[in-house]
This record gives sequence, C-alpha cells and structure tokens, in this order.
Amino acid sequence: MSKSALISGVTGQDGAYLSRLLLDKGYDVYGLIARRGSDTLGRLRELGIEKEVKLLDGDLIDLSSMIRAYEKSACDEIYNLGAQSFVATSWEQPILTAEVTGVSVVRMLEALRIVNPDARFYQASTSEMFGQIREPIQSEDTPFHPRSPYGVAKLYGHWITINYRESFNTHASSGILFNHESPLRGIEFVTRKITLGLANIKLGNQDVIELGNIDSKRDWGFAGDYVQAMWLMLQQETPDDYVIATGETWTVRQFIEKASAVAGFNIEWQGKAENTKGIDKNTGRTVIQINPAFYRPAEVDTLTGNAEKAVNVLGWKREVNFDGLVEMMMESDLKLVQNTK
Ligand code: NAP
Ligand code: GDP
Repeated sequence: MSKSALISGVTGQDGAYLSRLLLDKGYDVYGLIARRGSDTLGRLRELGIEKEVKLLDGDLIDLSSMIRAYEKSACDEIYNLGAQSFVATSWEQPILTAEVTGVSVVRMLEALRIVNPDARFYQASTSEMFGQIREPIQSEDTPFHPRSPYGVAKLYGHWITINYRESFNTHASSGILFNHESPLRGIEFVTRKITLGLANIKLGNQDVIELGNIDSKRDWGFAGDYVQAMWLMLQQETPDDYVIATGETWTVRQFIEKASAVAGFNIEWQGKAENTKGIDKNTGRTVIQINPAFYRPAEVDTLTGNAEKAVNVLGWKREVNFDGLVEMMMESDLKLVQNTK
C-alpha cells in the first residue's frame, strides 16, 4: 500500500516542490488548503501536479479542520510548512504571525496526538531563529537569538516540536533550513524581487528596483534540494533536528551583480548607504536604488549554516550551487515576463 502524506502550506514554494517529490516516490499527497478569495494553486499548476494533490479544507488556526484532515488523509507523514513566512510582514502583523507561524505548530501536534499518534512529523524551522548570530557558522548547537516576530514565533514551533518528541515520544523532527529560493519563490522575497524586477526592466515594464539593506548576507540554496532533506528526516528511525544550508554566504549586492550579468546588464555601484545606486554601464540607467522603507526595525546581518550533520546522518547533498540558482531564477523570470507581454 502506498504511503500517505499531509502537507500544510502546500500552495507555497516548498509545498509545491515537496508535493512533486512525494508524488514521484508514489505517495498519496494531501494538501491542507486555506480557502482564499483568489486562486492559490499557481505553483502546483506550474509543476503540473495540480490535479494529483488531494486538497483538504483547513486553516492553521482552526484545530477542528486539522483533525478532519488527519482523519481523511490517514497520513503516515505530516509536513508542517504552512506559515506567515515573510519576515517584514511579521512586524506589521505580529499577533497573526504568532498565531499562524507559532501556536499553529502545537495545533498540528495536538491533531496528531488525538488522531494519529504514530504519524511522523516535520516542522519547518528556520535560520531566522539564529538572528543576531552567536557563532560565525551556525549549527544545531548554536544558541538562538531571533530578531523578528517571525523568528520568535518559529522558535516556539521549534521547541514545541522537540517538547512533543520528549514528552510523548512523537516522531517529530525539526529542519533548521537556511534561505532557499527558486523560480517559485514569493515575489516579496529579495531574490525574486531582484530577478523579476530585472526581467521587467529589461522588457520595458519597470524603471528601477527599490531595495533596503543590500549589504546583508545570506546562505542561499535551491528549494528543490531542501525538500529532499525534509523527506530524509522522516525516513530516519530516530527523529532529530538538522541544519540544512550550503555553507556559503553572499551579499544581496552580489546576488544583484550575478543576476544582472545573466540578464545582460553591467552593474556599477555609485554612492554610499541610502544614496547607493546600481547603474547599468551599458545604458547609463539607474537600475537599483535604495528606499529606506525597506530597511527592517531589526536586521539579521549575516547567516552561514553548517549542514555537516545532515550530510553525515541523512546522506543529504545539494545539487544546485549559487551561480546555478541565480541563473535558474533569472532565466525563468525573463521567460515569464516575455510570455506575459
Ligand atoms: P511560502 O511560499 O510563503 O508558503 C507559505 C504557505 O503557508 C502557503 O501555502 C500559505 O497558503 C500557507 N498558509 C499561510 N497561512 C495559512 C493559514 N492560516 N492556514 C493554512 N495555510 C496557511 O513559504 P515557503 O518558502 O514555501 O516556506 C515553507 C515553510 O518553511 C514556511 O513555514 C517558512 O516559514 C519555512 N522556511 C522557509 C525558508 C525559505 O527560505 N523559503 C527558510 C526556512 C524556513 P496561501 O497560499 O493560501 O497563502
Ligand atoms: P529573510 O532572510 O527571510 O528575511 O528573506 P528576504 O529575502 O525577505 O530578505 C533577505 C535579506 O534581504 C534581508 O536582510 C533583507 O533586509 C534584505 N533586503 C534588502 N532589500 C530588501 C527588499 O526590498 N525586500 C526584501 N524582502 N528583503 C530585502
């Protein structure tokens, strides 16, 4: 009999890639879907799996809908990917973020305890929990210091997952994933804002990209590689926590430079701080400018992960490097904008 998996956040970037991975492995894939006024199935459609994922009504703040989804799916594995996942919004909507991103994790775990205590559970934790970093390279043993309501909410989710493992012997694992991107990344995140913005400038739909802190540094990987790690965690006999990262760090500025080169721009930086401009040397046009509105009340300046444990225990490895990721995203957005012209 094929295994059954239930995914919250199935309409998001990771939900789509994970659904495809599990379908390819022969799973019955169920997705918890919060009813919105508009169509949210674009990413599943993009991967050609919209009809293969079985959608179940359910909102992360509604325990009863989760219980019904657990019953209907008879799931062997649960992947809790649903969240208010955008850091900047978490200062605008801190209470909603606490509810959806934080407290909902215990709802998911309670539904498991009530309906299906033998199911295996994955929690989508994040490098944002390290925030103001306590060690230059972060591993499972690095102390946390979150810098946003999002990071604080995720930290609750992380610890309640560990607590259920220790209290009830739940097979619950937490993946501390560093930033991971793809052509399906939400357009509010900086990588996608850059690649889509450059494509729109190239094709004459936009004048300039306005950004905040372009000197912040991230360890960016490819989402398709990272969902593999989620699945691997739930195949282990013993549940545990794992950092998933590339171990390489790049500035937002470097991301812009690489993406620009792929799109045929030649960026030169002029000015400092809020007056920084990215000028395309080919045309003399300003392509990047700073808008302080995009600075954050508290910043995570730099993140670099050590995924040695995942490599050694899970046998996980990434396939796509930074250059490959930027090229993939830039080329995809150039095609997208061309096709919608
Ligand atoms: P994403 O694209 O923003 O997807 C978030 C998903 O959560 C969407 O499917 C969204 O549904 C759903 N959701 C939001 N509120 C909900 C609610 N009240 N009830 C049910 N579903 C709700 O996020 P992602 O990039 O795929 O990330 C997946 C998970 O990993 C998230 O928990 C994120 O915080 C975490 N994470 C991400 C990264 C990263 O770099 N991508 C790194 C570390 C951790 P709608 O489509 O209906 O809005
Ligand atoms: P995060 O690491 O989950 O917050 O992912 P983001 O892609 O939202 O942000 C990554 C980094 O890019 C952060 O340090 C942001 O401050 C920085 N950044 C600079 N300008 C922007 C912008 O216009 N939008 C976003 N989303 N981030 C920006």
